[in-house]
Amino acid sequence: MSDKIKIGIPKSLLWHKYGVFWEVFFKELGCKVLLSSDTNEKIVEQGVRVSIDELCIPIKIFYGHFLELYGKCDKIFVPRYWKLDRKSVTCPKLITLTDTANQVIKANDSSIILSSVINVTKRPISISFLELGLKINKNLFKVMRAYKKALLLYQEKKIRDEKKFNDILSKNSLKIAVIGHEYNINDKYINQKLITQIKIQGADCITPEIIPKKLCERYLEGKPFIHWSYEKEIIGAAYWAIASKKISGIILVSSFNCGPDSLLYEQLLLDIKKKPVLSVLLDEYTSSETINTRIEAFVELLRRKKRMNTHE
Ligand code: SF4
Repeated sequence: MSDKIKIGIPKSLLWHKYGVFWEVFFKELGCKVLLSSDTNEKIVEQGVRVSIDELCIPIKIFYGHFLELYGKCDKIFVPRYWKLDRKSVTCPKLITLTDTANQVIKANDSSIILSSVINVTKRPISISFLELGLKINKNLFKVMRAYKKALLLYQEKKIRDEKKFNDILSKNSLKIAVIGHEYNINDKYINQKLITQIKIQGADCITPEIIPKKLCERYLEGKPFIHWSYEKEIIGAAYWAIASKKISGIILVSSFNCGPDSLLYEQLLLDIKKKPVLSVLLDEYTSSETINTRIEAFVELLRRKKRMNTHE
């Protein structure tokens, strides 16, 4: 493949988690990187059109992003994140994404997809990326350098996240834990600017993305084993929020038709006994009016509760 290869990356799903890493990796290999647009009405419409009704909205949106890039680049990056540790797996819809993305385009065009299998029971993540890099650039030294730089920038982002977490905790503000997948919490279109709305109401948000991973793991100790990798992070974050005296309330964000979320959030709702909790279920019909009204009412409730506790 030529050094000038144009790689498209759908700005959805795990891009919200690993986007920094992927972008740097491909750029350092000498590729041109083309990102899809932020999620918008057209992307959602396109994704919904090629999806069956039963799919969760993040996957439908992914297809919309994928189709926006289709025809504009040499390859579209659709990795298969499967096993990130020895005991758990990611959601089946993420594992099969490379195959299902093939179905939304003509079968004879399936070579458009560039993939990599992330399965640590077979090989370390670093080797998966080195193998992927070598498909694009035969210079092993350059591929290793690209991997190291991408990893460094990803780790720097995690350090910034942790700093943000500590900064928010040290503030004397109303704090809400917003629990859910990054692709639901960070996609402003699908959640109708939920985080912005919380900030407009004068509260600070803590999301699983910025909570240190070790802290989430610690709060999972003694809890029933969770088989899904990303849900472990989310549920660990939720149990931290339940225990933290600094968190006034919890918002559980999930997608309609998400099996893992619906199962695990049921248990969470039973365990959140002493804090106000708001459940927000996202689908393609979620409106900004509904989100704004519910957030406004929830923040007001927390504020009153906090005032009452201060005067006790
Ligand atoms: S975890 Fe839920 S929301 Fe995420 S891809 Fe799987 S089913 Fe969809």
